[in-house]
Amino acid sequence: MRGRILIAEIRGFCSGVERAVQLVERAAAEGPFPVRVLHEIVHNESVVEEFRKKGVLFAEELDPAWEGGTLIFSAHGVSEKVERQARAMNVNLIDATCPLVKGIHRKAVELEREGYRILLIGKRSHREIEGVVGRVHRPPVVLESQHDAETVEFEPGAKYACLTQTTLSVDDCAGLFRILRRRFPEIRICGGICNATTARQTAVKKLAARCGRILVIGSGKSSNSRKLREVAESCGAEAILIASIAELPDSWLVDGDIGITSGASAPEHLLREAVEKLTALGWTLER
Ligand code: SF4
Repeated sequence: MRGRILIAEIRGFCSGVERAVQLVERAAAEGPFPVRVLHEIVHNESVVEEFRKKGVLFAEELDPAWEGGTLIFSAHGVSEKVERQARAMNVNLIDATCPLVKGIHRKAVELEREGYRILLIGKRSHREIEGVVGRVHRPPVVLESQHDAETVEFEPGAKYACLTQTTLSVDDCAGLFRILRRRFPEIRICGGICNATTARQTAVKKLAARCGRILVIGSGKSSNSRKLREVAESCGAEAILIASIAELPDSWLVDGDIGITSGASAPEHLLREAVEKLTALGWTLER
């Protein structure tokens, strides 16, 4: 009997990833060489590997000894200190930070100027959060969980505002906002989740309403891809996050409909390969 393959209406590369990838592609073709990228340009092993094959170098830290060539900031953005260091180096600097992440940087600076203490919802170790934290003088308090929101201390008389990482779960953040508002009703909730993240989560919810099993193509390092799996599960679907179809366990190859989506940093060819494998095994793509 096998089943249908249902594809999420909105999935895959967002505009910020598309832009970052194009900037590296152009630099890899035109130089000046060597081309170095600070951090993975986007969180996807396949994208990074393709660029490595073209000679692009990836580094976790700036090295002041770099001389000449091109230096590219990843889509996740960097702190002000790193940007200042890079601008002082003798390199051709390309800033591939997503414009929406830059919008969060600007908002954080504006809020601090207006006298707000900033609470930042996100993952402490994520490059985007490191970049936002490094844009203001007084480090924001990072909240990773409902427990953090329940226990963060509010200083009497201080003003508070809340920003978020761009790639979080809309529903999870709404829960944290409720807690913060209950504990500190005057808090200014500024949000931060981008439209690309919201649209992909809405699309995966629609998919979960139509089928009970969902493959999310994306890297385990990709925040928005992990959230797509969590959102699908929260809608009652069985969901799995895989970097490529080669990782799909045989236990998933049982008859029944399968939904597929992909994270904002996952190239479309990975989704096509998944569809090709499933159709070769007897599933039917619904058009
Ligand atoms: S997920 Fe959103 S913030 Fe991140 S790169 Fe894409 S558009 Fe930009």
